[in-house]
Amino acid sequence: MKITVVGGGILGLWMAAEATKKGFDVRLFEQYEIGHARGSSHGDTRIFRSAYWEGPEYVALAELSLPLWGWLRSIADQPIIDLTGGYYLGGAGSSLLRGVEASARTYDMPIRKFQARTLVPGCDKKSVAIEEKLAGVVYADNAISALKSFCLEKGVSILENRKYPDDEKDDGPVVVCAGPWLARHPVYSGLMTSNRVYCHWFSYPTPVEIFRKIFLIQGKDGRVLYGMPTQPGIIKIGWHNYPIIPLEPGTAEDGSPREYIEDIKDAITSITEISLHHLKSKGCYFTNSRDENFVVHRRTRTRWIIGGLSGHGFKFAPALANLVVGGIANDDLPPALHAFDPVRFSSDEIISRTHVAAGSLLLGQEWRI
Ligand SMILES: Cc1cc2nc3c(=O)[nH]c(=O)nc-3n(C[C@H](O)[C@H](O)[C@H](O)COP(=O)(O)OP(=O)(O)OC[C@H]3O[C@@H](n4cnc5c(N)ncnc54)[C@H](O)[C@@H]3O)c2cc1C
Repeated sequence: MKITVVGGGILGLWMAAEATKKGFDVRLFEQYEIGHARGSSHGDTRIFRSAYWEGPEYVALAELSLPLWGWLRSIADQPIIDLTGGYYLGGAGSSLLRGVEASARTYDMPIRKFQARTLVPGCDKKSVAIEEKLAGVVYADNAISALKSFCLEKGVSILENRKYPDDEKDDGPVVVCAGPWLARHPVYSGLMTSNRVYCHWFSYPTPVEIFRKIFLIQGKDGRVLYGMPTQPGIIKIGWHNYPIIPLEPGTAEDGSPREYIEDIKDAITSITEISLHHLKSKGCYFTNSRDENFVVHRRTRTRWIIGGLSGHGFKFAPALANLVVGGIANDDLPPALHAFDPVRFSSDEIISRTHVAAGSLLLGQEWRI
């Protein structure tokens, strides 16, 4: 059977790979070149984690994704995933730590809990740290090029610099993985927004335990800082979903405003007493759904729309692809994806998880955990 994939970011490429593995005759449309920097999937690294604070519905996706990342690692000639382990820090009652514990409890995942001060000196003595093993770093650009090579080897027709027209008639199943471009679509524009966010690379003078693993830290004001080791002595850090700058997709990455960099440096210094040296910053797009959960919409029998990955979808692209391709084969929406059906937006009770402020920084406010 023929299948058309729209979009050649991480999700579209995984979709094409899973579809060709299942014997579909696949063509993939990408409006630019695979690996471009105008969407959401470019860059050196992304975080993988399993005890998912955002909700236990994601743990099943993590469990399905991990062996698929392992499969990609086994066929690639570059590093794909490195399980460094992860640290989560915050107040005992913070949504971050409560969420990690709830997911770990539901899925019986081993975690270690200890006083955060033993890891970072500058936090409240009641603050808590949790360590999990099934977390680490995915090498994003490597994954994109390994998936592209696999698809080409298997005969997937990859049509680069070819925009798939919105009004094209479906000739078999079509899976739209258009990232932030979905936020422009009349059906989805009320559900999703496309936002620019930045991440920053720093070197540091002496070894720091927390920089050996991926980490998420929630401050008393709710903001979540994340970081991941990229190369020895270099850490990549960003705020999750803050500050967000509404921006039409298609703008290539650019340097960050200076005050955003200083804000991150101050936050890290306040808890670790370490001074970071800024190396570079890059912009990328988050496609935020109204509740920051994914959107998987089987809009018609043949048209599937997957998006609204809200800044945390890279790690799950293999699972989403595997489940959607299975759903197409079985002509059904798999149960593991029901939580992401946009039918939930018909309720008025939509609460976003982390939006703290759009555009501007909470300047003058010391970040404490
Ligand atoms: C700064 C930053 C940090 C992040 N950190 C993490 C992290 O640590 N862990 C994690 O799991 N996730 C993370 N994410 C999120 C993750 O990167 C995204 O969820 C993921 O890359 C989205 O992939 P995508 O394929 O849906 O979108 P994209 O990569 O944007 O791909 C969509 C593609 O569709 C193409 N397209 C659109 N319309 C058409 C059309 N009509 N015809 C043809 N082509 C079309 C576009 O050109 C584009 O290439 C982060 C994101 C950012 C920005």
